[in-house]
Amino acid sequence: MDYSKYYKNKGICFVLSGPSGVGKDTVLEYLKSSFSLNKVVTATTRPPREGEIDGVAYDFMTKEDFQQRIKEDYFVEYASYADNFYGTPRKNVEKLINEGKNALLKIEVQGAVNVKKIMPETVLIFLAPPSMEFLEERLRGRGTDSEEDIEKRLKTAKTELEHIKYYDYLIVNEESEKTAEIVKGILTAKTLEINN
Ligand code: 5GP
Repeated sequence: MDYSKYYKNKGICFVLSGPSGVGKDTVLEYLKSSFSLNKVVTATTRPPREGEIDGVAYDFMTKEDFQQRIKEDYFVEYASYADNFYGTPRKNVEKLINEGKNALLKIEVQGAVNVKKIMPETVLIFLAPPSMEFLEERLRGRGTDSEEDIEKRLKTAKTELEHIKYYDYLIVNEESEKTAEIVKGILTAKTLEINN
């Protein structure tokens, strides 16, 4: 039997957000091994970090270019974060979805809320730390950030947590592998939705 006509036959667009240090990348690594997803390359005006390749990590652009593109309606959403602009190129998302591929957006909270307004089918998943102490330990443990940066990130985390109410799913990330399984469950359910 061919049941394909019952399904939406489109890729899922989903957003994964959560404070810096909560473990999004580790969860995604686990998820990638068993679920097909494509991270959407987004644009930013911040300079590349060491090892970041243009067009892979981000589309790096100047503030002038970014502003021009805002006028041209190039972005599905954009937000200002830590004195820089970040935005999701509309074409990068649409291409994946129309090809039936799953599109992952790893973006911050303001952007997530705006994507949902424009693309209501988007699944918004928030990863939260078990406690602020846990987050602080994680950030210190990485050893990559200055004290000032850690303080800044912890303060930002508190604002981010206030946006949980706009999300579809909240997962407290105790163990990355288990969290990846939960995300997989949510996405699997989404792929089985009937087109009615
Ligand atoms: P970073 O500078 O550390 O790479 O990213 C800073 C924050 O911007 C992260 O929370 C990241 O997920 C978010 N971000 C990356 N691309 C976009 C985007 O296109 N739109 C929005 N709203 N946030 C983004």
